[in-house]
Amino acid sequence: MTEVLRPYQAKVVEEFWRAVEAGLRRIILVAPTASGKTVVARAVVEQARGRALGSLFLAHRREILTQTSNKLRGIPHGIIRPGNLLRPLELVQIASVQTLHRRAIKAGILELPEAALVIVDECHHVVANSYRSIIECYPESILLGLTATPCRGDGRGLGNVFQAMIQCPQVGDLIEQGFLVPTRVYAPVDPDLHGVRVRHGDYVESDLADRMDRPKLVGDIVTNWIKFAQRRKAVCFATSVRHSIHIRDEFFAAGVRAEHIDGTTPMDERDATLARLASGEIEIVTNCMVLTEGWDMPALGCLILARPTKQMGLYRQMIGRGLRPAPNKTNCIVIDHSGATYRLGFAEDHVEWTLDPDLKANNPTHAVRVGDQPGGPKIVECRECGAARVGGMACLSCGYLPELSPCAIEVVDGDLGLVDPSRRARPCLDDPYLRNQWFSMLAGIAAERGYKAGWVAHQYRNKFGDWPPPGARPVPTEPSVEVRRWVQSRMIAYARRRKSA
Ligand SMILES: [Zn+2]
Repeated sequence: MTEVLRPYQAKVVEEFWRAVEAGLRRIILVAPTASGKTVVARAVVEQARGRALGSLFLAHRREILTQTSNKLRGIPHGIIRPGNLLRPLELVQIASVQTLHRRAIKAGILELPEAALVIVDECHHVVANSYRSIIECYPESILLGLTATPCRGDGRGLGNVFQAMIQCPQVGDLIEQGFLVPTRVYAPVDPDLHGVRVRHGDYVESDLADRMDRPKLVGDIVTNWIKFAQRRKAVCFATSVRHSIHIRDEFFAAGVRAEHIDGTTPMDERDATLARLASGEIEIVTNCMVLTEGWDMPALGCLILARPTKQMGLYRQMIGRGLRPAPNKTNCIVIDHSGATYRLGFAEDHVEWTLDPDLKANNPTHAVRVGDQPGGPKIVECRECGAARVGGMACLSCGYLPELSPCAIEVVDGDLGLVDPSRRARPCLDDPYLRNQWFSMLAGIAAERGYKAGWVAHQYRNKFGDWPPPGARPVPTEPSVEVRRWVQSRMIAYARRRKSA
């Protein structure tokens, strides 16, 4: 029954035990959606059991308790939640946080299971009281937190509870390895959020609702789904219950079968709605903060973000819902009405998570992209396919690579700045990002044709007027049409010069 661990899973399990042997007791495993955190947890639990150590697995969602119990099949375990008979003698216990907190801590009618290893699922909630009061009862135990997004609701690190962080490959790596599908992002709207108040590190929901729940914006959600989503099964994240209902109504008015769920929807109704989405009976489920985490439907092909957030954690949890692979699924379409792509970047970007409670997770790639560098790459709309694309790079959706994008030009008192005779702004040759790209692509051509490193350096100098940085070793990449043409034109010019000489 034991699933064979993927190489990176085996690696993080090893790292975990090494950390324990080094004396660490409170460890987070950062595991993106679908990276198989339960498989990793199973391996850890099994190995603990082999050493006669008891494990307690804590989760707060019904679905996760069931999933975990299924994953542990073959390992005898008890489940502590309403409706399950207790099996207190088992070394492995899975427990609902709420049930355990209620029965063992508040009412004192249940003894806490003995556990040398306490695993906390979705451990970004660990600062909540119910979790804390349970964990405090296990001061000597090893604590292993699992999450895709190791930060608190306000984005800060979890260093008050955890000492160390072990990381699975991130979303971008897992896409490359084929364990997740890439996103294809359309960001047709960047809503104006000026004046929306911010509290605890995110927008105030009532302010957001006022701003987002407007007929034009709601109508755009429908038109853009029709335009971009290829009628794929979609989940829409709204800012408020009322907003979610408005979106559903608007879809309905357009003849699209949509349903809404929220925190007050009874469990069986929620399940029935999701089952209708899975079967294709309906096409869209709109919701407010219900489907943001701990829930999966691999066949989901489209996410609609209508809930702006400043939180890397929440943003990536929402997108994570759509990244699982499924038959005939080549990507997940993200239609972003929240502006999050412009502010927080792409799911594929590498995120620097931090344990530091005084810091927030950030996306350095994106920070460079939209940061202080004037003329640095930005997120733009692809002229060919409409997807969001990093300026200056080939479109990840259609492969379109535009002519070099001009640098932002300082315009001083009506001075038009650098504009060449064709009236097109001249590309900025000092852009380090552009230089790097060319360097790699030239190396790509050299690798194809068996040219030496010196050739690359010379071409680089031809292009940019100076030599590549000393010691720099470009990673050969597939050259763009533009770079190929440029190289060809240089070769022709060189041949001409030789001929005339
Ligand atoms: Zn494109």
